[in-house]
Amino acid sequence: MKIIKNRPLVAVESKVTDEPKRYSLSTWRGEFLHTDTELAYREHVKEETARHLIVALRVWAFLLLAFGWLDYIALGMSEGFYHLMGMRVLSATLVLIFSVAVKFKPRLARDGIGVTVIEVIGFFLFFLIYFVRPDIISWNIGVTVILLISIYIFVPNRIINSNLVALFGIFGSLYCIYLLNVAPPLLVGIFFILCLPTIIGYFAGVRLNLGKRHQYALFIETVQINQSLQAEIKRREELEVELKLQATTDPLTGLLNRRQYETLFRREQERVRRHGSKLTLCVTDLDHFKKINDQYGHDAGDQVLKHISDLFVATLRHTDIVGRFGGEEFILLLPDTDLENAMIVINRLREKLQASSVKSDDLEIRITATFAVTEVSQDDATIEDVIRRADKALYQGKEAGRNQVVAS
Ligand code: GH3
Ligand code: MG
Ligand code: MG
Repeated sequence: MKIIKNRPLVAVESKVTDEPKRYSLSTWRGEFLHTDTELAYREHVKEETARHLIVALRVWAFLLLAFGWLDYIALGMSEGFYHLMGMRVLSATLVLIFSVAVKFKPRLARDGIGVTVIEVIGFFLFFLIYFVRPDIISWNIGVTVILLISIYIFVPNRIINSNLVALFGIFGSLYCIYLLNVAPPLLVGIFFILCLPTIIGYFAGVRLNLGKRHQYALFIETVQINQSLQAEIKRREELEVELKLQATTDPLTGLLNRRQYETLFRREQERVRRHGSKLTLCVTDLDHFKKINDQYGHDAGDQVLKHISDLFVATLRHTDIVGRFGGEEFILLLPDTDLENAMIVINRLREKLQASSVKSDDLEIRITATFAVTEVSQDDATIEDVIRRADKALYQGKEAGRNQVVAS
């Protein structure tokens, strides 16, 4: 029988605390240090990231087209307006196509490559405004400031990707402004103006990303503790079953031990007293068992005992009680069975045993048993009284030549 070793409950926590590095965070990247953990996190939140990204992309497309109205007010139906509107429609179309792609394939939102490319193209097309409307450079710089903050806070992306887009946005804008012949000292000022929202966006973005990952680490930790607790509960339940089995059964044969069948006897006896139901008890002693031990050895004797126990359990009803009295003696309790029927049942059992054999190595061992059956009466005080009565009949059976069923 497999004995489950009792492990301390501390094991539950160790699984989590074993790998603290697995959930360490990089404070400047806003990501998990461990690549596998980072990928698992992004995979875990990809649906949510996709949903946020789709909203951000739609707002972006809407604003792109809405600002076309200001172009119209300033430029009217001029060539410049057409250029700008073309840029806006192209950018909005790209953004919307990508949002549809993300909707059907949320995995596109996971690593942020797609959105990074779209942001770079978006900035590139946005630069066109500098040349079509050089009159509103300062207005454009203001919009760029908003864009730089948005790419960190509003558009879900990895910080490293947002950094690349921000660098492209800053230096692209500076180059465009430079081409418009703006004085170098002013360019330095604009550079600092663009750096400021980038730094603010970067730190806010890092905090946002770290917060989400911290939550994820706690979630995984909770799941792991829960799993360990479930495993521990299962192990303890198995242990309980195991202990119960050990306390109620005989280790060699698996039959009920003395304490258990005595308890069950009392329960059945109560039914006899209350409802007048029938209960018979049978004491069984194997014939010439000593010889089996002497001839084939003690192990073979044990094997025979197991074989007989299995045969008894398999042959009798599942409501019948089969116990090991000690040595090669057994107690059988047959509830709801009177003496006459018990004699028939036990005789069938005797014949079955006689016909069976146990194979041990190359040997075939045959065995018989003598059975003594007695009906439990309302006057029987204890099981000992009943067994004593049956024992007398058993002695008679042995005297009369064994391999028989005797009633008393
Ligand atoms: P009888 O027909 O008169 O009953 O003859 P017997 O040889 O069976 O006599 P008895 O009932 O007195 O013998 C009991 C023997 O059973 C003694 C012991 O060697 C053997 N025995 C008791 N318990 C065990 C056990 O757990 N394993 C094995 N292998 N033998 C056992
Ligand atoms: Mg005996
Ligand atoms: Mg015997």
